[in-house]
Amino acid sequence: MNTEQNSEETAPLGLVHSVESCGTVDGPGVRFILFLSGCSLRCRYCHNPDTSFVRRGKERSADDVLEEISRYAAFMKAAGGGVTISGGDPLFQPRFTRAILKGCKAQGLHTCIDTSGHLGASVDDEMLADIDLVLLDIKAWNPEVYQELVKQPLQPTLDFAERLAAAGKPMWLRYVLVPGITDNPADVEKLARYAAGLGNVQRVDVLPFHQIGKFKWEELGLEYTLADVEPPEPQLTNSIKEIFRANGFADCTY
Ligand code: SF4
Repeated sequence: MNTEQNSEETAPLGLVHSVESCGTVDGPGVRFILFLSGCSLRCRYCHNPDTSFVRRGKERSADDVLEEISRYAAFMKAAGGGVTISGGDPLFQPRFTRAILKGCKAQGLHTCIDTSGHLGASVDDEMLADIDLVLLDIKAWNPEVYQELVKQPLQPTLDFAERLAAAGKPMWLRYVLVPGITDNPADVEKLARYAAGLGNVQRVDVLPFHQIGKFKWEELGLEYTLADVEPPEPQLTNSIKEIFRANGFADCTY
C-alpha cells in the first residue's frame, strides 16, 4: 500500500530520504540517485529500516527535485549516466516517481528505478515508457523462503519481471546472498535459468549480505533476526556468481 497524500490536482510531493549526485553502481555511468522513503517489504536484512519501515525524510515537490537534477544534467549526459530512483522502493510513492521520471525524460536523461517489483502493478504503460532500465531485486527463488525473508509473497515480483520482459525493457537482476537463507545452489540455479529465459536481463549483481544496518534496527527497537549471520565467504559468493555465469551472465558483478 502506498501512502501518497497528493490529490490529482496538486503537484506531486514526495518523501525524500537523500540524494547522491555522483553514484556509480546503480545503473550505467555516473548517476544522480534519488533515495525515497517507504517500502512495502520488510526484509530481515534491510540496511535502511529507519527510512524503509518508518516513513522518514524531507517532503519535496517533484519540481524542486527536477530543478536540482537539471543542474547535473549536462554532466550526467557527458558521463553516460542518468538518474536512478531508489529507496526504500520508488514504487511506494508511484505518483511522485512517475513525475520525476517524466521530468527526467523531458531533460533527455537516462532513467532507472531500483525496486523489489512488489508494487509493479502500480506502473502503467505510460510510466513504463519513461523508464529506461529496471534494477529488479529478486530476493529469493523459493516462494516460502521469500515470504519468510521479506514478509510478502514472491509472485508480484515475478509478474513484474515478466511484464518487463514482454515489453523488452532492459533489466539488471540483483540478488542478495545471505548465508543459510539464499545460498541454496539448486534455488539459485532455478533463478538463473528463469532470468536467462526472460531475455531482457543484461546483468546480474550478486550482493553479499552485510551487517551495516544492524545498529539501526537496534535504535528503532526492532528485533534484528540476522545478528548471528556472518557475511558470505568469498568462496561462497564466487560459487553463486558462477551459477549465474554458467547461465550466460558473463557480466555477473560484485
Ligand atoms: S526492499 Fe530494500 S528497502 Fe525494502 S525492506 Fe527490503 S532491503 Fe529494505
